[in-house]
Order: sequence, then structure tokens, then C-alpha cells
Amino acid sequence: MKYDVIIIGAGPGGIFSSYELVKLRPDLKIGVFETGNPLEKRKCPIDGKKITSCIGCKTCAIMNGFGGAGAFSDGKYNITNQFGGTLHEYIGKQESLELMRYVDGINLANGGEGTKLYSTANSAIKKLCMQNKLYLLDASVRHLGTDRNYTVLQNLYAQLENRVDFHFNTPVRSVSVADGGFEVHTDGASYKCDRCIISAGRSGSKWMEEVCHSLDIPMRSNRVDIGVRVELPAEIFSSLTDELYESKIVFRTEKFGDLVRTFCMNPHGVVVNENTNGIVTVNGHSYEDPARHTENTNFALLVSKHFSEPFKDSTGYAESIARLSNMLGGGVLVQRFGDLIRGQRSTPSRIEESFVTPTLSATPGDLSLVMPKRILDGIIEMIYALDKIAPGTANGDTLLYGVEVKFYNVEVEIDNTLQTRHHGLYVIGDCSGVTHSLAHASASGVFVARQIAQEA
Ligand SMILES: Cc1cc2nc3c(=O)[nH]c(=O)nc-3n(C[C@H](O)[C@H](O)[C@H](O)COP(=O)(O)OP(=O)(O)OC[C@H]3O[C@@H](n4cnc5c(N)ncnc54)[C@H](O)[C@@H]3O)c2cc1C
Repeated sequence: MKYDVIIIGAGPGGIFSSYELVKLRPDLKIGVFETGNPLEKRKCPIDGKKITSCIGCKTCAIMNGFGGAGAFSDGKYNITNQFGGTLHEYIGKQESLELMRYVDGINLANGGEGTKLYSTANSAIKKLCMQNKLYLLDASVRHLGTDRNYTVLQNLYAQLENRVDFHFNTPVRSVSVADGGFEVHTDGASYKCDRCIISAGRSGSKWMEEVCHSLDIPMRSNRVDIGVRVELPAEIFSSLTDELYESKIVFRTEKFGDLVRTFCMNPHGVVVNENTNGIVTVNGHSYEDPARHTENTNFALLVSKHFSEPFKDSTGYAESIARLSNMLGGGVLVQRFGDLIRGQRSTPSRIEESFVTPTLSATPGDLSLVMPKRILDGIIEMIYALDKIAPGTANGDTLLYGVEVKFYNVEVEIDNTLQTRHHGLYVIGDCSGVTHSLAHASASGVFVARQIAQEA
């Protein structure tokens, strides 16, 4: 079987490259290969009753399938070059922002209309942050919400399904160079193509490294963010979330000079498990539909760790920490901030008596047995700094879930057209190490599609 273009992965990167290719070049034959299921068949077995924690399915319904890792996400499209990836370093700041706005337009036209666009511009919160040694990053944030995000994906799929060959439950095992193009190998068959776009996301990070080894594509890895997910009553953070929805705030610790930042803020949201390569970590999302709102807000506090030579395995480092929490708690641990400060583990009864009701069933425990001191000290410092702009953050009942890890995929060596040293082989989205967000991953998909549309 021969395609003009093969796309590996049907997450935002893969979806937006196929969307743009179909729009600009309906004559091209496009095949999309995806490890997971179509959207409607993606169902995580955790129901909170019979199955309360991750059972390690063959493919994770949360991470794999049409929509990728973003399918059940909060659908926050951060339109900014300040975080979410470094796409602008490859394609330029202006183009990167324009592409993110273009993606926003498509989302609005496909079910996202009427959703709110938040902005940090001219916000008094920025000044308040600065007065308290906190720095608020600039962004426009489109919050689709988990439910609307799902609708947008349904609508995009409806437009693509008859114009693109989707191969679901078909992981690509390897890619080779063949006949001036590429050959993609699955368990049952091989498919040739002139151009290949790899958009395997975070869950495909290890596989991406194998592809780089086999095709002799250089890569580097030196960064990982480790921390906890904080959950507190929504009122405490409402002055920030009502105006900005998502605020990315950075803090430099006094003790070690490390950078700690807030990440993925979910007003009235829920805390969830995330399974990456068999390791259970924590994440969060929230729904646009007020009927599904909770009384809590959650967000991550992450400490960035950059390693220098000779250490190269930053992902392995973070995985060992996450494994430790899995070993102690059978999954994610939860601890009250007051217990952490007093040096005692949280017990089921202490969590039960807490004024904050956890939205994730996690094992009460002691995060200081899991997290390196330097990282935990940084998180504690930032909680006290946040308490100055959102009083109540440092209350004893504030819940901390661990471990939250933001894995940065190895950075694949690509040029400013997002092509590897093999002409026609593109690596986009989170598996490239260049993007870490819905907006950047989607924009990278549109970017390569436009190039291919011109050249093919
Ligand atoms: C719970 C959660 C909440 C999030 N919330 C937000 C948010 O609100 N805002 C935000 O900006 N970002 C958020 N993110 C991150 C965001 O989802 C990712 O940055 C984004 O999905 C990356 O898109 P991608 O296309 O690069 O990769 P992915 O979305 O990871 O998609 C890659 C796809 O490739 C498939 N695949 C992998 N390997 C292979 C292979 N060998 N063969 C075939 N298919 C393969 C996978 O099954 C997957 O479906 C969240 C992530 C999670 C898990």
C-alpha cells in the first residue's frame, strides 16, 4: 500500500496536519496510523467504584486514540510563545502565534464557539504578583473545557473520516528509508509513503527515541519538571481564576534559586491519574458545563530540573521518583499541606476530617519520603509565596498529590521546517521535544501540512 503522506499519531499534531492537508490538497492520499481507539471507543475503566486505580490497559484510553493525550484534557489552548513549547524558535514568533490563532479559529468553527478567551494583558494581578516575588507570564487562553473539546474532536473526525485512511489500534513499530521515501511497519503490514509526519506525542516518546536511533537522527535530553498537584477550595484562587482562568506564575526559590511554576490550572476541576509508560502520575482537568463543576480548584506546582553533562537521562530520573510514589501508594499519594509541614504522613482519617474533599481517590501518605528535599523545599516556598496573593493557599487542609511529572521528550534534531536530516521525514508535536501543549502541537501540524501541500 502506498500513500503520499503517512501521519503517525492522531493527537492534535496529527489531526491538524491531516485537517490542513485535506483542505489544501484533497488530491493527496493520506494514511493516519494510531495505536489507540477511535474517539467514541476511548473509555478508561476507572469508575471510582469497582476499579479505583489504574489497571494498566494495553493502550491507555486517556493517552492514546483519536484526540491523543488532549482528548479528555481541559482543552486549554494557550496562545503564547512564553510557554507550551519553543515552536517560535524554529518558525519565528509571528508565524507561531498566527498558526495558534488559526487553530483557535478552527476549534471555534467546530463546536468551540462562545467559549471564553482569557488574557493576562493589563491585569492588576501581574502587579500583585511582582510585589510578592512572583512573575505572571503573558498569554491568551481559550478554555474549551473537557466537554466542548470532545465535541470539537467529534466534528473534526466527521470531516476527516472519509477523506483520510484511519488505521486505529495499529501501532507503528518502525520507520525505514525506502525508494526515496519511507516505509512504515506495523504488526501486520508495511506501507510506503513519499512523506512521513511523526506526531507520536508523549506516550510515544520512548518509541520516538528508537526511531531516532535506527535512522541515525541526533537527539538530546536534559530537562524534566517534577512537583505536586495542589487542590484547594475554589474560592481561594477565584481572584485569579475568575479573571485569567489559567495563570502561569513563576517563582525563584530563595534557598536554591530554582524556578518553580504553576501549571495547568483547573478552576472547579478534578484531579486525575495519568499513566505514562506504566508509571502513574497525577494531572487535572475541568469541565465547561457548570453541572460538572466541583468545589475545588487544582493546579500543578513544578520545579524545573536541568541536568548538565555527563547525566543524560532526565526522564529516567523523574520516572524513578514517580515509581517511588507508586511503590509506597500503589499509585498517586495525597498529603495535607499541614501534615507535610509537621513532618507526619496523612492518614485516611486525617484526609476524611479535612475541610477539602479530594476529587481523586489517592493513597494518603508522606510526600517527603518520595520527593528530593530540594524539590519539596521549592514547592513549600512557593506555596507560602502564593499565600500572599491568594490567602489560604498555605492552609493546613490544602491537598498535595504526588508525583506530578512533566516529561520533556528528547529534543529531536529538526531544522526550521521541522524536518529531520532525512528529507520528507517531519517530527512534530510533543514527540519532537519542541512542543508541550495543545496549541503548539496543533500549530506545528498546520505548519508542516502547508509545506507539504506546496511541495508535493
Ligand atoms: C490529562 C491531560 C490534560 C492536559 N491538558 C492540557 C491543556 O489543558 N492544555 C494544553 O495545552 N495541554 C494539555 N495537555 C497536554 C496536551 O494534551 C499535549 O501537549 C498534546 O496532546 C500533544 O499533542 P501531540 O499530537 O503532540 O501528542 P498526543 O496528543 O500525545 O498524541 C499522540 C498520539 O500518537 C499515538 N502514538 C504514539 N506512538 C504511536 C505509534 N508508534 N504508532 C501509532 N500511534 C502512536 C498515541 O496513541 C497518541 O494518540 C494535557 C495532557 C493530559 C494527559
